[in-house]
Amino acid sequence: MSIPIPSRQLFIDGDWKVPALNKRIPVINPATEQIIGDIPAATKEDVDLAVAAAKASLSRNHGADWASASGSVRARYLRAIAAKITEKKPVLAKLESIDCGKPLDEAAWDIDDVAGCFEFYADLAEKLDARQKTPVSLPMDTFNSYVLREPIGVVGLITPWNYPMLMATWKVAPALAAGCAAILKPSELASLTCLELADICREVGLPPGVFNILTGLGPEAGAPSAAHPDVDKIAFTGSSATGSKIMTAAAQLVKPVSLELGGKSPIIVFEDVDLDKAAEWTIFGCFWTNGQICSATSRLIVHESIATEFLNRIVKWIKNIKISDPLEEGCRLGPVVSEGQYEKILKFISNAKSEGATILTGGSRPEHLKKGFFVEPTVITDVTTSMQIWREEVFGPVLCVKTFSTEEEAIDLANDTVYGLGSAVISNDLERCERISKAFRAGIVWINCSQPCFTQAPWGGIKRSGFGRELGEWGLDNYLSVKQVTQYISDEPW
Ligand code: NAD
Repeated sequence: MSIPIPSRQLFIDGDWKVPALNKRIPVINPATEQIIGDIPAATKEDVDLAVAAAKASLSRNHGADWASASGSVRARYLRAIAAKITEKKPVLAKLESIDCGKPLDEAAWDIDDVAGCFEFYADLAEKLDARQKTPVSLPMDTFNSYVLREPIGVVGLITPWNYPMLMATWKVAPALAAGCAAILKPSELASLTCLELADICREVGLPPGVFNILTGLGPEAGAPSAAHPDVDKIAFTGSSATGSKIMTAAAQLVKPVSLELGGKSPIIVFEDVDLDKAAEWTIFGCFWTNGQICSATSRLIVHESIATEFLNRIVKWIKNIKISDPLEEGCRLGPVVSEGQYEKILKFISNAKSEGATILTGGSRPEHLKKGFFVEPTVITDVTTSMQIWREEVFGPVLCVKTFSTEEEAIDLANDTVYGLGSAVISNDLERCERISKAFRAGIVWINCSQPCFTQAPWGGIKRSGFGRELGEWGLDNYLSVKQVTQYISDEPW
């Protein structure tokens, strides 16, 4: 099943533009290792042009610009974008699948979520009109005060490759709904669907400059946005290491940032569970999208009394998963995104072995796949809390396991991490689950499941997993600033 790869340029000021240095980056299908196309590589000169276009889109036409358009006008564009995404779903899903290695049906769910997210923020854009001017109650009647919620301005959006179009949409949709002008820098490892989003914005007639896309390498196409004086905010999703660099650059200009970073999330499984159901959630929580999920629950903390039987079921499940080219019917796991990621994951596994851990299953390339960046789902036992595999984010299909005997011990193990994104507990005792939800040091808690994510609910972490929240109303607040307006209304002198 082949599909033509559209050849695109940078999208600046409502039009395609050849990058200043005319550089391009090859696109590699991770399932075949073949070059299937290329994407433009932006540099500082292109960033300057995009920032100027974005800034102009917020001040054009004497107040009839994007920022001062009513929320219902902006909502019409967002709904038109959502409709086009739905219309183009089959092509977008295939592009996503061959670009990042995700099974086709998962890519199709992502595209549904992308359209749903634009719809959701269209609704919030309309509601924003009603909440634009909120009165503040003051302790004296000589003053009248109200609050305006205004778009922050030009926003730089930098995103990763694991959910290329969805991670971009979590930022683009609320930013546009709020009335900001956006410059998106997707990952150089998977930019195809984001470039199609630019084409969709062109097709629906989004005013020029409101949405710009600069594909390219992080330091060349992303860093100049973070350091640009006319970019009013940076919203970043990616690794904690890059997030720290972006925060440092933004700090020079006291520029606000929101950061969605990495994780090493725990899943606690108690002895009172239905073993099959718990195994299914544990597998889904760690191996879905090949473990390339920021919130993957990749540290299993299982009660010692059920550990052997539980791990047997997990291994049995894993052996039945179809690993193949992601476009093949019934594929459950595709390749990881790149050769670099493949090498990194195998290195984590070999380090775990040399530190004394046991590879219970997996650990290498599946025998039946000679080409492509495929890694077997891997379960690692005999892990200590000082091992790299317990402490660092692998971002691959690797589950490490520890057992516990008391609830306190399980909570201590779960919170034994510098990260704080997701966390899950599986138990039939709901009081216990609620107690543990409070004890978890994380931004997201799942009870009797792992990974479900809804556009309506806040998403984000604490500690080194970042700060700020995406999705829901919280996602819109990322792109609004609050202005206090206070008027002296008394006839008496002050
Ligand atoms: P990454 O940090 O390598 O890259 C993310 C983005 O930053 C890419 O677009 C990259 O080009 C850009 N970038 C790299 N260096 C830069 C620089 N110096 N200045 C500006 N931009 C730069 O991350 P990745 O490998 O693409 O993604 C995987 C990471 O993302 C994992 O750590 C994962 O946990 C995290 N992630 C977090 C969430 C979340 O919601 N918290 C969601 C998805 C992924």
